[in-house]
Amino acid sequence: MTTPADPYLLTPGPLTTAASTKEAMLRDWGSWDADFREMTARLRRSLLDIAGDTNGDYDCVPLQGSGSYCVEAMLGSFVPRDGHALVLANGAYGKRMATTLRYLGRRHTVHDTGDYLPPRAADVERILAANADITHVVVVHCETSSGILNPVEEIAEVTQRLGRRLLIDSMSAFGAIPLDVRTLPCDAFVSSANKCIEGVPGFGFVIAKKEVLRDAKGNSHSLALDIYDQWDVMNRTGQWRFTPPTHAVAAFIEALRLHTLEGGQPARLARYARNRDVLVAGMRSLGFEPLLTEPWRSPIIVTFFSPSDPAFSFERFYELMKAQGFIIYPGKLTTVESFRIGCIGALDESVMRRVIEACGNALASLGVANGAPAPASLGAREALAA
Ligand SMILES: *Cc1c(COP(=O)(O)O)cnc(C)c1O
Repeated sequence: MTTPADPYLLTPGPLTTAASTKEAMLRDWGSWDADFREMTARLRRSLLDIAGDTNGDYDCVPLQGSGSYCVEAMLGSFVPRDGHALVLANGAYGKRMATTLRYLGRRHTVHDTGDYLPPRAADVERILAANADITHVVVVHCETSSGILNPVEEIAEVTQRLGRRLLIDSMSAFGAIPLDVRTLPCDAFVSSANKCIEGVPGFGFVIAKKEVLRDAKGNSHSLALDIYDQWDVMNRTGQWRFTPPTHAVAAFIEALRLHTLEGGQPARLARYARNRDVLVAGMRSLGFEPLLTEPWRSPIIVTFFSPSDPAFSFERFYELMKAQGFIIYPGKLTTVESFRIGCIGALDESVMRRVIEACGNALASLGVANGAPAPASLGAREALAA
């Protein structure tokens, strides 16, 4: 049972984890110990299996810190100091990559399509054709700030065709949305422990071509975030450079076991998609409308317009949901009022039905008759449908 003291996290990481994943942390591990080194090796192999690396062309490098540390490590290690990156931004995480490149002093160009429009291959082709010195394209797989699933396949195709290199932030997608290195040409991508694999926070991982890892020697601006050095030391000693997040690794091994037991990426996608479908249908029955049209709506997190009824207040709605055992997420759009509900974590459609019931109760407490947004807000979606 989940009580208000132990709520479901309907947030895109940290998220609700299985009891056995939490229990896996009730033991201390020595970082040098052979058992822990074996856990690290198993973790790396399992992630490469999920990425479809049957040819051994890629390697997996786990790194301490939250997901942004891995993004920064990937950009600093793989975009050379004389490189030029094209950042495809349509939300906070794309913008954060541009900010990161600015901090790193790496030349970059931003193609910003706003809060909810995807980057398209034709635009990328035009920009690359006009800028021969762009070496890398950087894209977010699922832009968690709106929940949009970006078309990484078409971006990968045009990037490869025009002879450039692709780096992907697949933080909130990998493990649930297909990302197979045999069919999706990319130099590297990153994800972290506390997203679709359903582990606890503490580290992320970079999956990169071995040839790209070898070429990264000497590129990084930072010792702690040097992916080449982390890879080299891990391959030579089986250990992490610097203190590893031992308990988070132990939890992740259990989370990976549960991922396999469920049926791997396809089964996880099916459960999350079902969560989303039950959520969207239920919210619509209360009058709410999702920001995104169906083809772009990810099974990771859904953004809803805030109701136009002046009695609605997100802060009070949040507290009323929390009192019923559900933690929801504020919106991250720049133009319209919105909030988000995550579909990922150790929860299923029966939980989503209770979320809907709780939303109905919260609206009633607020005296909001209907969750419908202002008609003008819906205009935002017209551009997407076009
Ligand atoms: C969660 C997430 C990140 C990393 O965020 P941290 O707070 O550093 O873990 C990066 N990109 C995307 C798309 C994410 O969803």
